[in-house]
This record gives sequence, C-alpha cells and structure tokens, in this order.
Amino acid sequence: MEFAETMSQAQDAAKKAMDTMAHYRVVPTPNNFAIWYLHHSQRLPALSREIEALVQGGSDFGPAVVRGLHESFVSQAGESKTLAVASVRIERTLEQLLRMISVTNKGTESYGATLEDLSERAERAEGANSEPLRDFMASVVVETQKMLCLNRKMGAELTESAQTITQLREDLDRVQSEARTDALTGIPNRKVFDAALRDASNTATTTGAPLCLLMMDIDLFKRFNDTHGHPMGDQVLKLVARTIGSRARPNDTVARYGGEEFAAVLPDTSLDEAVAVADSVRMTVASKRITNRRSRRELGRITLSIGVAEYVAGESVGDMVQRADRALYTAKRLGRNQVVSQNEVDAEAR
Ligand code: GH3
Ligand code: MG
Ligand code: MG
Repeated sequence: MEFAETMSQAQDAAKKAMDTMAHYRVVPTPNNFAIWYLHHSQRLPALSREIEALVQGGSDFGPAVVRGLHESFVSQAGESKTLAVASVRIERTLEQLLRMISVTNKGTESYGATLEDLSERAERAEGANSEPLRDFMASVVVETQKMLCLNRKMGAELTESAQTITQLREDLDRVQSEARTDALTGIPNRKVFDAALRDASNTATTTGAPLCLLMMDIDLFKRFNDTHGHPMGDQVLKLVARTIGSRARPNDTVARYGGEEFAAVLPDTSLDEAVAVADSVRMTVASKRITNRRSRRELGRITLSIGVAEYVAGESVGDMVQRADRALYTAKRLGRNQVVSQNEVDAEAR
C-alpha cells in the first residue's frame, strides 16, 4: 500500500483520527491510531465499510472491537513493509502537526497580547468621554476579553493534543523497536537479520566488496536444558548472545536466527577474516564458566559450532545461507566446538 496523500490530506486524516478516537473514548495507542488514520484517509474501503457498519450498530469501539479491526484489516493488509511505510507517514504527519500546534500557540499568544494592549489604550484614549464611543469601546473590551478567553482555552487544548501526540510517537518508537528485537536475548531478531543480509548482498554486488555470513549453533543444548532446566538454558542463550555481540564490529549484524541458533552478517570481510572472527567468538564462548547464580554451582561449559560462507556477487542470499548451513553441519559432524568454512565442507554435508 502506497501513501499518496498530500501533507494536508494526511494532516486532515490524522486530526480526524484523533477526534474520532476522543469521541468514542478509544485510547490513542499506535495500533488504534493506525485504524482511524487509515479509515479517514480512505485507504482501506473495506475497513471504512466495517467501521460505518459498527457506527450504525451503535458499537462502543471498546478494546476488543478495535483489536478485531486491527487484526482483520491492518495487520493483514499490512505486511511489515506497509506498516513501516505507514509508520513513517504517521510519524511525519505527527511532526508536522506538532510544529503547527507550536506556531498556532505562539500566534495566539501574540494576538492576545496585541488585543490586550489595544483595549488598554482604548480605555485611556482621549475622545473616550463621548458616550457612544465609550459604549463602543466597552463592547470592544468585552469582546476582546471573550476572545482572549477562547484563545487561551484553545491554546490549552492544543498543548494537550501536542502531549498526546508526543506520547503516541514514543509508543510508536517502542512498538517499532520491539518488532525488531528478540524478546529473550534483546538482540536483533530474524526479521532484522533477513533484511540486513539482503541489503548487505545488494551492496556487495554493487561495490564488489567481500561479504561473509556466520551461522552459529549451540552444541548439545537439548542436553543442557534437560540437565539444568529451561530457565537456566534461557540464561545461557542471553550470555551467548552477549558474548557474540561483544566480538562484533560496528557494521556487523548479529541476530538470533531461531531457537539456539545465531547468525552474523559481516560486510567488508573476506572468508579468512570471517573464519578468524568466528574462531574468536567460538573461543570466547567456550571460555565462559556457566554458574548457577543462586546455588553458585558450576554447570560446566557451553560450546558453539560455526559455519562460515562468503557471498558470490549476484547469487541469491538463500544460496549463501545454504553454504553456511552445510559448513555448520560439517562442524557438528566433525565433533562440534569448531569453525568450518564453506571450503572445508565434507561430502556428507553436500
Ligand atoms: P546439536 O549440537 O546437534 O545442535 O544438539 P542440540 O541439542 O543443540 O540440538 P537440538 O536441535 O536437538 O536441540 C536444540 C535445543 O535447543 C532444544 C530446545 O529445547 C533448545 N532451545 C531452543 N530454543 C530455546 C529457548 O528459547 N530456550 C531454551 N532454554 N532452550 C531452547
Ligand atoms: Mg539447532
Ligand atoms: Mg544445537
């Protein structure tokens, strides 16, 4: 879904979304905002039809109704790309709204000050002794006071909207960052890895710079879990994630690939260099002593097997992942706790 609205259309949709949410007492979370924004921008006719039907039916737009709308229309209609585009658009609209609100507030204040000054001067003015002029002045002063009062109220409301919008923006940032992070280990998730690998392969194809991939798998982790329990296993996953991250360079992407597997995208890195990085990761992990913090009992050591592959310009990233997987499989077959590059893959793994 492309967002083709002009800035003013987008602002209009965003404002209407805020108003409708206030009207139906819907909490302005990013998800809820997305629904009402999409509705008012007439992006999803099916969503708008459903909302109109709900309005006709006197729906209360409670959390369950709004969640249903989100699940049926927004999360399905929007694969991650759409959501990202929408988020950027919403983010820009919010920024613009905030700027407008601040400008309007300033304008209102200075207009108010001018009016106040004028009315004071009018009261002091000389010919103000004539009765009709005095009456006229009095009504100007009254109207001015009313106007000032209204302006102040509007200013307060605008400030409140600005606060809501700021909160909304913070929520949106948090939701976006959560969507990219593995909940257990706090490192980037598989989605981020896929995107990073795609981007890095495109860059490598364009520039001709080398690019490598490490696939890392914790050895005999099932046995560790069976022996020490799943919660202790979770602690180990966190430790391994931290340790791999500590060996990474700024442009590398280390992610949890799934379960007890991790992956690292290493741009501008030759196969030999990548093998060296992998070996340093492997040795650092193997050197850690795993202890149960509560009982202080030592639980032994954890090791990693790592497969390393180098990208061939123009090939699909799937091909490189497959080579790294085969190298990893060979490392397991050769006895685990070792690094194997794509050039050392044994016949069994081919
Ligand atoms: P190998 O050396 O061949 O890789 O053996 P393995 O036992 O590590 O491999 P296997 O695929 O048989 O088992 C993977 C284990 O990883 C099983 C599963 O319970 C564990 N695991 C996967 N995800 C998590 C997790 O989030 N937390 C914990 N504690 N364990 C996990
Ligand atoms: Mg595994
Ligand atoms: Mg394993």
